[in-house]
Amino acid sequence: MENKIIEVSGLSKKYTSAKSFALDHIDLTINSGSIFGLLGPNGAGKSTFINILSGLTNKSSGVVKVCGIDLDENPKTVRGNIGVVPQEINIDPFFSPIQIMDIQAGLYGVKKENNKNLEILKNLDLFEKAKAYSRSLSGGMKRRLMVAKAMVHNPPLLILDEPTAGVDVELRSKLWNSIRTLNKKGVTIILTTHYLKEAEILCDRIAVINKGKVIACDEKKKFMQLLDEKELIIEFSEQIKKIPSEIKKYCKKKEKKSLTLKFKKSKISTADIIKIFVEKKFKLKEISTKESDLEDIFIKLLKE
Ligand code: ADP
Repeated sequence: MENKIIEVSGLSKKYTSAKSFALDHIDLTINSGSIFGLLGPNGAGKSTFINILSGLTNKSSGVVKVCGIDLDENPKTVRGNIGVVPQEINIDPFFSPIQIMDIQAGLYGVKKENNKNLEILKNLDLFEKAKAYSRSLSGGMKRRLMVAKAMVHNPPLLILDEPTAGVDVELRSKLWNSIRTLNKKGVTIILTTHYLKEAEILCDRIAVINKGKVIACDEKKKFMQLLDEKELIIEFSEQIKKIPSEIKKYCKKKEKKSLTLKFKKSKISTADIIKIFVEKKFKLKEISTKESDLEDIFIKLLKE
C-alpha cells in the first residue's frame, strides 16, 4: 500500500464573516512522493486548504494528518514537516542567499550540524550566488531562493502556491526542473495553479476544487482520458461533394474544401478516418489535429 503523506477527512472551514463554507467537508489523501496539483478557480478554497495545512488558518472541523501526525494533537510537528513557498517573493535585498537561509534555519531551530543550506542552494542551482547580494539575483533565481528558504528544515512536503504566476516561459521551465529535482530526491510536492498546462506537465495526480468541494481527484493520466476527444481538420484539394456515410456522424463543421471532425479516440483512429477518405478517392491536402487538454476537462468539470 502506498504511504500517505496527507490524510484529510471531513475538513471544513467557515470564516466568521462568511455565509458559506470556504471548504465544505473535504476528503483528500496525497501519496508520499507525488507531485500533486490543486486546481480551481479563484475563491475555490485552495489557499484556505494550504493555510490550514501550514498552520496559518484554523479549520472549523474535520481531521488533518500530515505524515500520520494529527494536526490537532501536534501542530508544531506538522508544521515542521511542511515547507511553504508563498506566491509573493519576500527576500531582503541586502542579505545574501546564504545569510537568508541561515536566518531562516535559525527561525526553524535547525541545529548547526543539520544545516544543509549550501547543499540546498546547490540543488537549486544557486551555489555560485550564495554570497552575492540578493538584489543582484534574477527573477528566476529569487523564486528558486524562495524554494530553498522553504527547504531549510528539510521537510518531506513542499507546498508551492502558484509557483510560476507571472513568470516567463524560460524561467518557468527552469523552476519546473527544480521542482522535479526536489521530487526525485524524495520530497512530496503540492502545488496550486491556475495554469493548467503546469499541472498537466508536472503533476502525477490532480484534484479540482470548486466552491469548497473536491469535484474531481484522480491520476493525471485518468484525467487526460476523461475526454478522449480528438479534433481532426482535413483540407482537400477539391470541393467536397458528399461526405462518406461512415464519417458523417463525426462531422462538426463543413466548408467548401475542409472538414472538421470530432471523435473519441477510443472509438475510431485518425488513421481509420484518413483511410476511408483515401479509399473514396478524396484528394487530401492538409491534416491537422487537436487533442483535448486539461483546460477542456477543467471547463467540462466546472460546468457539470
Ligand atoms: P482560492 O485560494 O482558491 O482563490 P480561497 O481559499 O482564498 O480561494 O477562498 C475561498 C473562499 O473563502 C472565498 O469565498 C473567499 O472569499 C473566502 N475567504 C478567504 N479568506 C477569507 C477570510 N480571511 N475571511 C473571510 N473569507 C475568506
